[in-house]
Amino acid sequence: MGEATGFMQWTRVTPKRRPVELRLHDWNEVYEPFPNDSLTLQAGRCMDCGIPFCNNGCPLGNLIPDWNDLVYRDHWRDAIDRLHATNNFPEFTGRLCPAPCESACVVGISGDPVAIKQVEVEIIDRAWAEGWVGPQTPTVKTGKRVVVIGSGPAGLAAAQQLTRAGHAVVVLERADRIGGLLRYGIPEFKMEKRHLDRRIEQMEAEGTEFRVNAPVGDGIDIEVLLASYDALVLACGATSARDLPVPGRELAGIHQAMEYLPLANKVQQGDLPVSPIDVAGKHVVIIGGGDTGADCLGTAHRQGAASVTQLEIMPQPSVVRGANNPWPQFAMVYKVTSAHEEGGERLYSVNTERFLGGEDGSGRAAFGRCCCTRCRW
Ligand code: SF4
Repeated sequence: MGEATGFMQWTRVTPKRRPVELRLHDWNEVYEPFPNDSLTLQAGRCMDCGIPFCNNGCPLGNLIPDWNDLVYRDHWRDAIDRLHATNNFPEFTGRLCPAPCESACVVGISGDPVAIKQVEVEIIDRAWAEGWVGPQTPTVKTGKRVVVIGSGPAGLAAAQQLTRAGHAVVVLERADRIGGLLRYGIPEFKMEKRHLDRRIEQMEAEGTEFRVNAPVGDGIDIEVLLASYDALVLACGATSARDLPVPGRELAGIHQAMEYLPLANKVQQGDLPVSPIDVAGKHVVIIGGGDTGADCLGTAHRQGAASVTQLEIMPQPSVVRGANNPWPQFAMVYKVTSAHEEGGERLYSVNTERFLGGEDGSGRAAFGRCCCTRCRW
């Protein structure tokens, strides 16, 4: 439970972000190291609330009060064991999860919630640094063969559990590298790929086999797989993009986020010298104000865009919960992510109606209609 009165003694603190002018010149993660004594106090803010709604708010059912208490009492080795009990990859969730647990935190009813996500990532980062995260090889082999299709977070977690249960597991990935969205959707500045590579090494040491450039249904027959393996796990994600079928959509220069982001990631991995969709010196419009839009925003700024405007169809949220969004629901409130902090303009209540073309046939503007009073749309 941390410290019984900790939430009254200590305020919520999260790590500082590196200065914008510095971080825009590299692709490294944006956060500065968080001092250990500060983290101890943050874990100590977890009170003995009795019914930990955070545990229910977390899609993984993470045992959050347990590991907050263990960190507060300096039992880090036990903390990573409790964290790994429900979460195969805390270094991914601790960096990328929108943290619905914090929206459900009981301390958050009357103040700022416990910095759960920060405690989570510090536990796993320390565990790696201390050498506590090693291969867990099964003691008994079942003789069963399992194929997992897709190597994103779901495929990796399924493969790790199945391998540790003693099955012979093969993961098929259609792309040229393992990781799915972790590899090609998430920019380096949100999660450096060394975290992913380290996990893959651990999984290989445990016995999981990975095969890249293996597109099932396009050269690899599903019937053959079904005949060759005892079980098949479909974890192939949803790469069918949601399109915006408005006039002008066919113009050049209009791209889906998952066409744009993977190319930028390939450059960072050294697979391409420059992205074929590089926006250096260009004026960029991003349609969509969610996390993916923010990933595109941070990527565009690092590529040197002249300007970036982000269009969001919904009205600007308030900074506090609305009456229709009570605790412990996920808080739909105004946020300034690290990418938003780096620049660009956000326009709300904009419905894109058509794209306008330039003389060379490329798109030059998204034309929309706005119901707010402050912008030009
Ligand atoms: S940050 Fe996400 S994965 Fe981690 S405890 Fe909270 S809800 Fe669960």
